[in-house]
Amino acid sequence: MTSRAASPGDGGPILRVRDLKKHFPVQRGVLARTVGQVRAVDGVSFEIERGQTLCLVGESGCGKTTVAKTVMRLLEPTSGTVELAGADITKLPEAEMRAHRRRMQMVFQDPYSSLNPHLPAAAIVGEPLTNFGLAKGQALAERTAALLERVGLRADVAKKFPHEFSGGQRQRLGIARALALEPNLIVADEPVSALDVSVQAQVLNLLVDLQEERGLAYLFVSHDLGVVEHIGHRIAVMYLGRIVELAGKAELFDTPLHPYTEALLAAAPLPEPGLRRERLIVQGDVPSPMTPPPGCHFHTRCPHAQERCRVEAPPLMQVKPTHWVACHLRPPGGPLDALPAAAPTPALIASQV
Ligand code: SF4
Repeated sequence: MTSRAASPGDGGPILRVRDLKKHFPVQRGVLARTVGQVRAVDGVSFEIERGQTLCLVGESGCGKTTVAKTVMRLLEPTSGTVELAGADITKLPEAEMRAHRRRMQMVFQDPYSSLNPHLPAAAIVGEPLTNFGLAKGQALAERTAALLERVGLRADVAKKFPHEFSGGQRQRLGIARALALEPNLIVADEPVSALDVSVQAQVLNLLVDLQEERGLAYLFVSHDLGVVEHIGHRIAVMYLGRIVELAGKAELFDTPLHPYTEALLAAAPLPEPGLRRERLIVQGDVPSPMTPPPGCHFHTRCPHAQERCRVEAPPLMQVKPTHWVACHLRPPGGPLDALPAAAPTPALIASQV
């Protein structure tokens, strides 16, 4: 692995996000009058240490991809701050962002649509090096060949076009391109969800190897708990634009503290078909982020909801050294035993599987 120059931000978290909000105006009529706001991300805070992976999980529409795009400054935040290696990049003009973009790169869900179909593989992978004036001629060819080889593609694919690759190979191309500038952070948005399960494992293993080799940090967005369990060091669970639980992987999987996390885990496929476990199925759709329920956003589906939950939003509180949860029934320092029994509610059924 090539060495990187030390920077003023070295030592602290590579990424620090504070109270990040991204609201989209909803416009109607010929005059495009603003009639509301979609609160896609509504006050999200987290940090990622160098060489670590934070996974953002949650159902479709919970805001996890919007967080990823806002961190990358592909979307402008409504408020809050994003610090990369100690530098506040939240409002930097594009010209000043350029230097920081080398430090963070993105890998997209659909490698096919994110790769220029008119360029051969070598040009796709080498494009960031050309854009930043870092290599040309023979040096560019050698660095591109090394990147292709590192992600498991033979150098003789350099002249092939994206449509000549399989889905897994295309994602390897996307990863090679993301590595070209030797970033510290890769933001990966559902990078394996479009791939077959066997190919998923290969690409995840590649990402893990690259992390160990290069000290990369990942912000990894996924709806798939199996994938998250494979690659995550810490997991943040999102619901309707907010993080409801954030913990180390083992803690989150072994002792989830938020009812929504419990339901997500219960709904995930069991690793062994013969296993039986208490299953908690949350019913109903996720409410619209344009009109989220007041108080705790989850109260319309939560079996433990109380009057307070309907009016007061629970803040994300630290309940153990590496465990944060946003639930009125999990006060910091309070007992971490079982939640009160589920109140009868049509929003939830309990069953055995
Ligand atoms: Fe359920 Fe209330 Fe906790 Fe929200 S705050 S998860 S509604 S118990």
